[in-house]
Amino acid sequence: MLLNELRDYNASLLQTSLFKDYCPNGVQVEGRAEVRRIATGVTASQQVLDEAIEWGADAILVHHGYFWRNEDATIVGIRKKRIAQLLRNDISLLAYHLPLDAHAELGNNAQLGKLLGLAEHGRFGEQNIAWLGALEQPQTLAQFTQQITDDLQRAPQVIGDGSKSISKVAWCSGGAQGYFEAAIAQGVDAYITGEISEQNFHLSNETGVAFISAGHHATERFGIQALGEHLSKRFGIGHRFFDQANPV
Ligand SMILES: [Zn+2]
Repeated sequence: MLLNELRDYNASLLQTSLFKDYCPNGVQVEGRAEVRRIATGVTASQQVLDEAIEWGADAILVHHGYFWRNEDATIVGIRKKRIAQLLRNDISLLAYHLPLDAHAELGNNAQLGKLLGLAEHGRFGEQNIAWLGALEQPQTLAQFTQQITDDLQRAPQVIGDGSKSISKVAWCSGGAQGYFEAAIAQGVDAYITGEISEQNFHLSNETGVAFISAGHHATERFGIQALGEHLSKRFGIGHRFFDQANPV
């Protein structure tokens, strides 16, 4: 397929124009016009670029691309190295940030909810990015923690009493610890996100709502893979996910 077709299809699928985001969504670095193989990754790190190029990707699709709003805009240091490599190899970089978190089926939150067996009951937060749902059967916080450990292959950091019963849950992948208070206002038993801040401990402790920090990378591995699989099936193009382990 053509890069322009891929760009337009993704823009419409993910409704990228509807989001106010911190980075450009869509083509961030333009490569060759024809795309036969797409690589996906959580972050456009040097390792993901190296492996995708070695594999023969024509385009790399990621959740965390480049050109973040508050970042230094100059192309020096690691930014120069990464962008020069893309340009030298004539490979495109496409990034989908908030639109990929939010998508109702392929998004990070949709995929995370499915993996953890959470039925969606609604949305909340800025741009309706965070999800509300419930476990099919209530579990203790200790049991739910074990389930998350198994499903994500990573032990979360959990604040709360392990014997507490968990039924209603809110979740938002990545660095969404700032939505904890909004999640508490929804009347949930637990909130799951990717990272934790100092004040989250006190908020959890004083409200009794459990806080589960399940890993920024660990909670955001699924949306971009689902997008890659979807595109591969729909357009008959090759797809491979490149996962660089990240403890955060
Ligand atoms: Zn993220």
